[in-house]
Amino acid sequence: MARTASDHYDVVVIGAGMSGLAAGIRLAMYDRRVLILERHNAPGGLNSFYSISGRKYDVGLHAMTNYVPPGVKGTPLVKILRQLRLKRDDFDLRPQGYSRIAIPGCDLTFTNEFAHFEAQVADAFPEQIDGFRRLASHIRDYEEAALDNPDISARHVVGEFITDPVLEDMLFLPLMYYGSAREGDMDFPQFAIMFKALFFEGFARPPEGVRQIIRALTDRYRALGGERKMKLGVKELRVRDGLVNELLLDDGSLITADKVLSTIGEVETRRLCSDTTPDVGADNVGSLSFVETITVTSKKPAELGWNDTIVFFNARERFHYARPDALVDPESGVICFPNNYDYSEEEGPPEGLFRLTALANYDRWLALEESDYRAAKSEWFGALRDSALRFLPRLVEPLDGITVATDMFTPKTITRYTGHLSGAIYGAPVKRKRGETHLGNLYLCGTDQGFLGITGAMLSGISMANLHCLGE
Ligand SMILES: Cc1cc2nc3c(=O)[nH]c(=O)nc-3n(C[C@H](O)[C@H](O)[C@H](O)COP(=O)(O)OP(=O)(O)OC[C@H]3O[C@@H](n4cnc5c(N)ncnc54)[C@H](O)[C@@H]3O)c2cc1C
Repeated sequence: MARTASDHYDVVVIGAGMSGLAAGIRLAMYDRRVLILERHNAPGGLNSFYSISGRKYDVGLHAMTNYVPPGVKGTPLVKILRQLRLKRDDFDLRPQGYSRIAIPGCDLTFTNEFAHFEAQVADAFPEQIDGFRRLASHIRDYEEAALDNPDISARHVVGEFITDPVLEDMLFLPLMYYGSAREGDMDFPQFAIMFKALFFEGFARPPEGVRQIIRALTDRYRALGGERKMKLGVKELRVRDGLVNELLLDDGSLITADKVLSTIGEVETRRLCSDTTPDVGADNVGSLSFVETITVTSKKPAELGWNDTIVFFNARERFHYARPDALVDPESGVICFPNNYDYSEEEGPPEGLFRLTALANYDRWLALEESDYRAAKSEWFGALRDSALRFLPRLVEPLDGITVATDMFTPKTITRYTGHLSGAIYGAPVKRKRGETHLGNLYLCGTDQGFLGITGAMLSGISMANLHCLGE
């Protein structure tokens, strides 16, 4: 097939998730000819939305982390807005009420004010507060986003400041659920990123949910002249002389690009490459996946006495963050009430929403036949709900009586809609912080570059576009 100038791009971005959209904006802003290719029919990736029977559901947004009020400078949210030339109003973020870390017999609440959390720790763990303050100060001074940070055990570093295993677990519980691709421990720089994101900064959500964030990004990209093709994936990256020479697309067409930024994961990207050089990192596939249940209720959570925004719960003696042997581990998880943000009367979700997330085993879900799969969804939906209800104020009426709709997705759903191997939301355990690959013009951004979550993915897209395509 004859190639024309119209088939050539300065940069092709694979994936229209948060990182791909942010990278695309950055590149279009500097007049690069950029094309975003997305296999799915909707943008957003792990952070997308869908409709069933006229009801709109978010896939991935419990909370946008790193919220700071207007006027605060130098934080990730401020950097994203500045780098993408977006206004605060474009995301329309509303702060949380309060969230809670809950284990049997002990609760710690946190808000978007660190002093509140510090006071909670002082109250519940008086003998640990000096160590906690020193840990917070160590993290405050730490350059967590440096691309050359050594890989060190967060358990080890935290252990130098906190000697009570109960408090240690209560700190790891939310930080792991919201941003760890590793079992049992975290890389300390990632722990510091998440500590700042949750405890120094905080949670927010737009009244319209993730659609608002996606719309802000896609509108900006379009206004800058960026090109995007939906329902068109990259099938193969054809390699010659250590470079991506051509991209073969799902419809059989071929395009070329000076540089390719891939947001789909390291091993997932490697598998697209036509070369057969030794498969470095071929086993760097994440093992952590999740189920999520959604219950829509006729009453808002506050009417039921449920006032938390997010609850991170653990029923075990020690918090165990690992792929479970069973289909689901209902003993720990995350409860999210998207209604409980600071909206005005008429804003926010029109019905009550009660969302639950827990660790799940991808291989076991994948092995089920269709009828067993449906039965397992129903069984684990109930088991996870009953487990979570132990950590909420008791209802005066049965939940079933006010439930108007339910839905649930499994690790299998995650792989089907995003292509992430093993349904691993946080991707590979070893991150490639500089985004480099074995090919000279192919770079990673997003999940496997290493900045996780919505804010992290956008920052990753921005920093990898700056570093590798704009020479910053
Ligand atoms: C249930 C759940 C809850 C979450 N909750 C939160 C939360 O509350 N707060 C938070 O900050 N984060 C949350 N996250 C995490 C957050 O959504 C992700 O970290 C972030 O969205 C990752 O963005 P990304 O751009 O790196 O990757 P992705 O979103 O995975 O984007 C990759 C894109 O590439 C596309 N693709 C794959 N293969 C190809 C191909 N060959 N060709 C073309 N396109 C391809 C995929 O369809 C996808 O759209 C949650 C995630 C889930 C699933």
